Amino acid sequence: MSSRNEKETLFELVNLMNKKEKAELIDKYGKAGKRLVLLDYDGTLVNYELIPDDAILPEHLVDILIKIIDKPGTNVFIISGRSHNDIDKLLGHIPIKIIAEHGAMIKENGHWKNQISDNDQWKKDFFPTFNRITDACPKSFVEEKSFSLTWHYRNAEPELGYECSRELIQLLKGMINSYNLKILDGNKVVEVLTIETGKGSAVKKLFEQNSYDFILSIGDDATDEEMFEFFLHQSNAITIKVGEGVTQARYKLNSISEVASLLKQLSG
Ligand SMILES: [Mg+2]
Repeated sequence: MSSRNEKETLFELVNLMNKKEKAELIDKYGKAGKRLVLLDYDGTLVNYELIPDDAILPEHLVDILIKIIDKPGTNVFIISGRSHNDIDKLLGHIPIKIIAEHGAMIKENGHWKNQISDNDQWKKDFFPTFNRITDACPKSFVEEKSFSLTWHYRNAEPELGYECSRELIQLLKGMINSYNLKILDGNKVVEVLTIETGKGSAVKKLFEQNSYDFILSIGDDATDEEMFEFFLHQSNAITIKVGEGVTQARYKLNSISEVASLLKQLSG
């Protein structure tokens, strides 16, 4: 047990981004002609909030992002699992490109577009299961997005929430086989969505449309791992996980304030 913990601690230390690596990143970023910046929202730019609408981007970060967007040759996307309506409420006032619902919706030049052609008939078959778990877990709730169903348990009693989430995942595993669906086990959310949706495939699409000589991708959650995995063999991509946990990202930063300070340096 102790040796496993030591290994994990070592692993945590190995890819925590140090000063030299940060300086190299800033240097490469400055020299690149075509940059792609992919930023998750909750847990990466803002803290998780009990009421999701409270996760407002602070003014100083709005200014930093606008400076980054305004630099020639820089393509910036917020890439989130939130519904497009939900994320638009928070970011609609900023001229930024947004990938919502794990890639199912993209906002460019102020307009939202569907990226997938899913018939969402499957949802009605899944509501009873989601509702049953919601009834068993006070303060949890179901969110219906355009192309997914999400069960949130952030506000529930933590132990019960976790237990119910495991039960929901077990039930869903038995159901998804006859559909073209997958399960995302996120930060206090369990989500069912079509197989072709995900941050990995969203990023792949961006790559098919454009070439870049420097990529920066930052996220904190299990759903960001698909994005990190896509960049595993891209030597010009820097991937960063925010916070603890095993990851496929090349580096880690401890907190959202470290992300903000890195972005500030890039905006200069
Ligand atoms: Mg996140």
